[in-house]
Amino acid sequence: MPRIPAALFGLTLATLLQAQSPFAAAPPAPSPVPVLKDYPDTPAGKLLRDIKEHAEVVARVEYLADVIGPRLTGSDQLRQAQAWAKAEMTRLGAVNVHEEAYDFGLAWTRGVDSARLLTHNGIRFRVDQLPWTPGTRGSVQGELILVDARNLEELRAFKGQLKGRILLRTNPDDKRPPLPRRGGGLETYQAEQAAMTQFLLDEGALATLSMSGRKNGLSFTTGGAGRDPKKPALPAAYAPQEPYKMLVRLLARKEPVKLELSLGGSCSAKPVQATNVVGEIPGRELPGEVVIVGGHLDSWDLGTGATDNATGSSVALEVLRAFQATGLKPRRTLRVILWSGEEQGLLGSRAYVEAHKDAMDAIQAVLVDDMGTGMVKGFTLQGRENCRGLMAQAIAPLNDLGVKELSLRTMNSTDHAPFDRAGVPAFAAIQEPVDYFLGTHHSQMDYADHLVPDQLVQGAQAMAVTAWELAEMPARLPHGRLPTQPVAGAINPQGRP
Ligand SMILES: [Zn+2]
Repeated sequence: MPRIPAALFGLTLATLLQAQSPFAAAPPAPSPVPVLKDYPDTPAGKLLRDIKEHAEVVARVEYLADVIGPRLTGSDQLRQAQAWAKAEMTRLGAVNVHEEAYDFGLAWTRGVDSARLLTHNGIRFRVDQLPWTPGTRGSVQGELILVDARNLEELRAFKGQLKGRILLRTNPDDKRPPLPRRGGGLETYQAEQAAMTQFLLDEGALATLSMSGRKNGLSFTTGGAGRDPKKPALPAAYAPQEPYKMLVRLLARKEPVKLELSLGGSCSAKPVQATNVVGEIPGRELPGEVVIVGGHLDSWDLGTGATDNATGSSVALEVLRAFQATGLKPRRTLRVILWSGEEQGLLGSRAYVEAHKDAMDAIQAVLVDDMGTGMVKGFTLQGRENCRGLMAQAIAPLNDLGVKELSLRTMNSTDHAPFDRAGVPAFAAIQEPVDYFLGTHHSQMDYADHLVPDQLVQGAQAMAVTAWELAEMPARLPHGRLPTQPVAGAINPQGRP
């Protein structure tokens, strides 16, 4: 998963970068995948056996991650991945394979980033530019200042002190009580962020540096703002905790700390469109009713987006492969959608829901796999207690494979969420975390090295059988918008995939 959940839009960037749970120890070993002794002579049994014996899901993740690499929305690499995905869908028997475009905004390309102190013997350390911020056009040199202002009012206290300075925007020793939650939603938040950036520009600040939310040298990227060319923008980067805290300690010594910072990223000259890739197997009896299985093909770019979310995208393609290989034709249409713009705020799935808002009733269910390589243990019901009975039927053939959990929890942080808000039964897979939230998620660790093949293959089995059963069952899952559910017992500490 990836992206900023709506619930987090009320936080400042500095808070966001800190909002992750730092890991104090290695993640626990994943639960073992149950081994099935035999496969029943049923469609579910056929799918389970075929995927166990012939899965291509690991090879697909490796192709996306190793050969194509990171896939920022708007990048050539994502375009390449989408062309490959369309060819794969066609090869795997899908029809009506096409892309659906939506307006994305500016594209952004990472360059080479570097940082070294001009004081203190020229110590160098890792920095990563915050995507969609402007580069430094060469390098900037400035004295550091800790500016832990959390809103415009607090920032104004620094008036007159920021000219020619590079700002440390995270205070790792912050003991202040959190600011009261303010109303107004996303627009108010974005307006304040823009006003704060404009203030920094007016004051002559050179760049900002924030602290990664992950320990042990990990960078962690996020953020979705900045695609609007009319918004004010300042070069910004983040550093892993260890060097960042060194800078804070040096400042605490009350001696000048001067930094040379070079950030090579840049935005495109003009806004671009992005697309979702769609393909389907038409239903044999009810072609107008649809079960959607999806993942997001886009990724962040510090690693190669192997577990976020080449895994879910490849699992969705594996569902097509298994249907083709077994010759099973679903009663309702199976539609696979590989979204883009997920990491910038579920932009692809939101655009899809908006473009097809008159067709939401035709969707039986939406299933999304976006928590990395871990096996599927169940699905979030998003508060839809009235779907529990039918979902329990859908996963019954998977119970012995460890797929049992139907949680009322709501997860808002991946591409099923816009469908859920539109009243469609739309569920995220609950997966074994492996090292996702403590390691690979949005970090420079996100390489195919972290795949656990038997876990990933189980995930493909779970998605294929659940989709099949939902496509076959006589009943329709109840639709309807629910009152907004609290994010109770969120699936991950960040509330986001
Ligand atoms: Zn993701």
